[in-house]
Amino acid sequence: MSIAEQAVTGTQPDVRTYTSFIGGRFEDAGSDADLIEVRDPATWRVIGRIADAGPAGIDRAVVASEAAWPAWKATPARERAALVEQLADRLAEHQDEIARLDALDTGNPLVAMRADIAKGIHQMHEAAGLAFETKGETIPLPGLHYTTREPWGVVARMVTFNHPAMFTAARIATALITGNCVIVKPSELAPLSPLAIAEITAGIVPDGVINVVAGGPATGGAIAAHPRILRITFTGSTPTALKIQAAAAASGRVKSMTFELGGKNPIVVFPDVDLDETAAAIVRGMNYARVQGQSCGATSRLIIHRDIAEAVLERVVERTRRIRIGMPVDPETEMGAMITKSARSRVVDMVQRATGDGARVLTGGNAIEEGELGAGAFLEPTVVDRVARGSELADVEVFGPVLAALTFETEDEALAMANDGPFGLTAAIWTKDIDRAFRMANAIETGYVWINDVETRFPAVPFGGWGDSGVGLEHGLEEVLSMTRVKAVNVRLR
Ligand code: NAD
Repeated sequence: MSIAEQAVTGTQPDVRTYTSFIGGRFEDAGSDADLIEVRDPATWRVIGRIADAGPAGIDRAVVASEAAWPAWKATPARERAALVEQLADRLAEHQDEIARLDALDTGNPLVAMRADIAKGIHQMHEAAGLAFETKGETIPLPGLHYTTREPWGVVARMVTFNHPAMFTAARIATALITGNCVIVKPSELAPLSPLAIAEITAGIVPDGVINVVAGGPATGGAIAAHPRILRITFTGSTPTALKIQAAAAASGRVKSMTFELGGKNPIVVFPDVDLDETAAAIVRGMNYARVQGQSCGATSRLIIHRDIAEAVLERVVERTRRIRIGMPVDPETEMGAMITKSARSRVVDMVQRATGDGARVLTGGNAIEEGELGAGAFLEPTVVDRVARGSELADVEVFGPVLAALTFETEDEALAMANDGPFGLTAAIWTKDIDRAFRMANAIETGYVWINDVETRFPAVPFGGWGDSGVGLEHGLEEVLSMTRVKAVNVRLR
């Protein structure tokens, strides 16, 4: 039975061992493989195991990629684009199964995961459409000077657990369209849909062009340390990114790396806004629905003018309490379970420490431990105000359903608060004053800024963090170009 079929049967999949997809086939688990349990966050049942690929598995994936690369690189861009379109079309035939697999494996609501895989497929088509944009330039100098954009060869893409299928689909497409072979490493917490994507699309591109390795930190570390993987992209936390940089340096090779990391993203609200509209946006920006606040770009730090704080927070609390928490597969569910129970405990502890710092919990803050949801990693959507500037909850990423509210009086103060802390991923500015909106957008130190919006992002627009939120860009033409390296050719004309 295929990986996806197991999910759509509606029964719990067997506790099967899933292995890496390398060189066009799933490997044998081997008797001495390290096994990592995969759980359904909503029931906490073990739904499978993965055999950790480890350094030997990564080496096999590199060898398979290298074997496939010369022919793949030589494939005309137009044919590569047609094949990426075929990959997208094949996934489209299986989108419901993939969405169910993600709901089962991540705890995210099924409705959200349906939207996720649809977005991933959309991004594959966009990448295919950019095939001819990977062109070079000529420079007007004596002779002929031109540049070309060449693939790296083997590209490793480590994706995280909050959007496994969407990230896998999109990251494969941009690597392939530019002539690279790809090694995808999903999170050990949500590996099933990336492996299913390999299974569903098998045979469309030559063996070794797409590899999906199953594994945990040891496998990620092996990617960073491998001497022949020179281009790596990583989506995850800042501390892990630092370990990857250290392991890459220790490999003795100079590597090109893109990091898409965490955030503690401000939403700055001035007193001239419409209170109801803004309250709705504050709740939406938290991404309580879809991913239980486990969203890198969530505007989880509300910086609101003192004069309207109480009125807006009242509305925010009222809306937050209306969010329907439930089993992920229920189509009515808006908010599912957190990825693990330990992630939930970390969040509950942070909220408790914040109250010790003088903060006040306006709603939520509790694990749900009774009834149908009691077995899973469910947590109430939480709003905390009176958060002190400089405190843990003001500066540290929660990566869970907790909104931290702080107040300000002047624009200068609001800007300084927005730029507090080490992160710089997203920011939102809410005001009707056009001058103030652009002043703030210019001065805020983040890679992405909304004016009078939150959460909505279009895949054609580049996305990347400043500071500890990352290096490099994903999405749009920038991601496609980042999968290439530039060669300059100097021709002496005689
Ligand atoms: P994480 O850093 O804990 O783990 C990410 C992955 O790293 C895991 O799959 C793990 O196997 C691997 N890993 C662990 N140790 C490693 C090591 N030493 N070397 C190499 N790999 C190693 O992050 P997470 O909890 O999976 O994801 C949450 C984080 O991701 C949050 O900080 C969130 O903001 C961020 N995120 C960022 C974006 C973005 O686009 N900026 C998107 C989604 C999530």
